[in-house]
Amino acid sequence: MLRLEGVTVRFGGRAVLDAVDLDVADHETVCVLGPSGSGKSTLLRVVAGLQPAHAGRVLLGGRDQGGVPPHRRGVGLMFQDHQLFPQRDVAGNVSFGLRVRGTGRAETERRVAELLDLVGLPGAQKRAVGALSGGEQQRVALARALAPEPRLLMLDEPLGQLDRGLRERLVEELRGLFGRLGTTVLAVTHDQGEAFALADRVVVMRDGRIAQVGTPMEVWRRPASEFVARFLGFDN
Ligand code: ATP
Ligand code: MG
Repeated sequence: MLRLEGVTVRFGGRAVLDAVDLDVADHETVCVLGPSGSGKSTLLRVVAGLQPAHAGRVLLGGRDQGGVPPHRRGVGLMFQDHQLFPQRDVAGNVSFGLRVRGTGRAETERRVAELLDLVGLPGAQKRAVGALSGGEQQRVALARALAPEPRLLMLDEPLGQLDRGLRERLVEELRGLFGRLGTTVLAVTHDQGEAFALADRVVVMRDGRIAQVGTPMEVWRRPASEFVARFLGFDN
């Protein structure tokens, strides 16, 4: 589905992504972990086409995405600050990406209802987003990201602002949802527990490079370096 080959991004002469290679298979969920500033968000932005790479290639479905604008890449993005449109109701938010693509009214309504069922907010179409709880807003943001049926869904700290109990519930629900939809997912999280619960494989980043990639069990059992072990908290 997704392949990165030697992807390099520099800011002011410093490589914040340094020749990164990564493959994400169809239907796979990959979680990206790493300290603040290690390049996690930049990685997602490059794949989305929001940040140009100074070297290397991004391929989606085998196609080099060089020069392909973000809206033509077939990727869905959800950021921590999910930036819902406060003046629109839930349906207006979820249907945004559908209307942009010229989907008709009846089909849009059907899809919105289906998506709200999926994220556990059935019948919420007319509710004002400003009156929703944080967790409900995250669900609306997720429904909005899923609406155009992206081939790759990228989440940047999607549950960042929620309390632990709600996060754990949502992680369980998301895992089930992605399984049912067959969505390919690349997700950044600060929370190891979340990554280990959600991911088929985890990527640990350090200073713009991949320090380790493997199944949660592999990374947990055999950290590839002192850095990974320490990052996972094995020394305290
Ligand atoms: P966090 O966990 O804090 O979100 P991150 O791993 O997502 O961190 P990035 O946002 O990818 O980190 O940033 C990687 C590095 O690149 C940081 O040092 C950041 O300051 C720098 N950086 C990111 N975007 C820009 C930019 N537009 N201009 C200059 N430097 C940038
Ligand atoms: Mg980030």
